[in-house]
Amino acid sequence: AVPLVVAVSTTKAAASGLLIRDRAAFERARDLDAIVFDKTGTLTEGRFGVREVVPLGDLGADEVLALAAALEGQSEHPIARGVAEGARARGLDVPQPRDFRNLPGEGVEAQVDGATVRVVSPGHVERLGIEVADERPERLAAEGSTVVYVLRGEDLVGAIALADIVREESREAIDRLKAMGIQCMMLTGDSKEVARSVANELGLDDYFAQVLPDQKATRIRQVKERGLTVAMVGDGVNDAPALVEADLGIAIGAGTDVAVESADIVLVNSDPRDVAAVAELSAATYRKML
Ligand code: ADP
Ligand code: MG
Repeated sequence: AVPLVVAVSTTKAAASGLLIRDRAAFERARDLDAIVFDKTGTLTEGRFGVREVVPLGDLGADEVLALAAALEGQSEHPIARGVAEGARARGLDVPQPRDFRNLPGEGVEAQVDGATVRVVSPGHVERLGIEVADERPERLAAEGSTVVYVLRGEDLVGAIALADIVREESREAIDRLKAMGIQCMMLTGDSKEVARSVANELGLDDYFAQVLPDQKATRIRQVKERGLTVAMVGDGVNDAPALVEADLGIAIGAGTDVAVESADIVLVNSDPRDVAAVAELSAATYRKML
C-alpha cells in the first residue's frame, strides 16, 4: 500500500506537471547531493541564431553558410535549425545534399556537389589534427558563442558562430537547489569556453564540456564515485543512458520518447524550476511521514 501523504503528493505533483514514474526514485530526491543538468535545451533555450560566419578557405561567408545549411536542413539538432534559419534569413541558395548522416555528438556529414562536406564540433576538428590558423573562431567561443566548423573534403572552409541564451528560469532553479545544499553541475557536448560562460552566468559548482554522447553516463558514474547521490536532468536521446545511470533520472519537456522512457520523473512543462520543485516536494512529503 502507498502511504497517504505519498499518494497525495504524487497527485499534487501530477497536477503541477511533475510526472512521477518511479516512486522510490521520488523518495531519493530528498537526499540529493548533486544534480547534473544537460546544457542545450535544458539550462539554455536551445534556440541558436547565427552571430558570425568566418571564412577560412576559398569560399566567401555566404557560400560557407549555404554549404552548411545544405546539410543542416536534414538535421533536427538545435544548432542545425539555427544554421538553416540563418541561411534562409539571408536569402541564400542552398545546394542539395546526398547521403546525409549524423555524427552523434560531433556534427553532420553529406555529399554536396561531389565533395564530402562536414559541419562539426571544435573537438572533432581537434581530433582530426587540423590547426585553425585564424584566431577569430576561438575568440567568438571565448565570448560564449557555440562554434561549428565547415569542412569540404580535408579542407577547413569556415566557422559559424551561433548564440544560444540561458533560460530566465534556470537561475532561479539553481539558486533554490543550492539553497537546499545541492551541488549543481552541467554536462555538455559543447566546447569548454561555452560551458564556462554558462557555468559562470548561473553560478554552477562544476561542469563537464566536450562530452560525447556515449560518455555522458560515465560522467554520472564518476560523480557517484565521489560518494554523491546524483540526479541527471536531460531532454535528448543522447541523455537516456545518463538518466538511467543516475540515482534519479529526470526528463525535461516533451523531449524524445527515449528520454522519457529512461526517466524516473518527467517534467511536462519543460521548466528547470520544476527540478527544484521535485526536490522540495520530496523533502516535504517524506518529512511528514517521520
Ligand atoms: P549538447 O550537449 O549541446 O546536447 P550534442 O551532444 O548534441 O550536445 O552535440 C555536441 C556538439 O556536437 C555540439 O556542440 C556541436 O559542436 C556538435 N554538433 C552536434 N550536432 C550538430 C549538428 N547538427 N551540426 C553541427 N554541429 C553539431
Ligand atoms: Mg542536448
